[in-house]
Amino acid sequence: MEIIRSISGMREFSSDCLQSNKSIGLVPTMGALHEGHLSIVRQSTEANDITVVSIFINPAQFSEGEDFSRYPRDYDGDISKLSALSAAAVFMPEAADIYPDGYKTYVEVRGLSERLCGMFRPGHFTGVATVVLKLFNAVRPTRAYFGLKDYQQCAVLKKMRDDLNLDCEIVLCPTVREADGLAMSSRNAYLSMEQRLDAPCIYKALKDTGHAIKNGSLKIKDIAAKLHETLSAVKSITEIQYASAYDPDTLDEITHGARVLIAVAVKMGATRLIDNIVVEL
Ligand code: AMP
Repeated sequence: MEIIRSISGMREFSSDCLQSNKSIGLVPTMGALHEGHLSIVRQSTEANDITVVSIFINPAQFSEGEDFSRYPRDYDGDISKLSALSAAAVFMPEAADIYPDGYKTYVEVRGLSERLCGMFRPGHFTGVATVVLKLFNAVRPTRAYFGLKDYQQCAVLKKMRDDLNLDCEIVLCPTVREADGLAMSSRNAYLSMEQRLDAPCIYKALKDTGHAIKNGSLKIKDIAAKLHETLSAVKSITEIQYASAYDPDTLDEITHGARVLIAVAVKMGATRLIDNIVVEL
């Protein structure tokens, strides 16, 4: 497995692949890899000749006061996990290569970026869209893989791909969960034992409301109230940032519809957790 540390090195590697007509799958990550990431890597290695996993903790997607400096880092562990999966290359650029002095260009996907997480993390999706476009230009992937745990990120990036006519298929991958239902996340490592024991309540609340609207015992317009009632009773949850029903395409809050995105963001102390499900009625 090649370890590539510069944009120029990455472009050279991908030029060789493209000249020999090899398909390239890109899996962008911020490292501290867990089974959620690895399942995406496996999807890519099955569908592409070459899989490139990028590991870059993108400063542009963290707001002031967020966890950029303490975000979990485990580069050696990541590399050994990826070499066991026959990924062809790991792309680990330096921040100064991605954002050199005087860097001024940002990609803003209006509308979708401002809802849900965007209300609480201003600028976050501009940082995400910018770095993903830069990764696309360095790697030139045939397909790029993203996890549905970050549903809004998937929506923003698909919109960027369509609006900018990018020649890259975007593949969305199902959320991988711990045995007790908690969505895997690098940030779960921040949770205290008590918070970790309470954390599966998020997926349980999503599933219970999903079942209830499917069996008709709950109306879509009452999802937000039900989720708030359930989640506010959990001791470790110190803030509910959003918890409601949304249109899966526009991310507008909805009171009726045939497909419903039920999405939640809560804080347990300093740790922010998100999760979602999509229910077809
Ligand atoms: P991150 O390193 O958190 O930026 O995540 C890198 C990619 O892995 C993103 O596309 C995430 O949506 C995806 N991902 C993270 N956690 C999970 C999970 N539990 N299940 C599926 N995909 C995930």
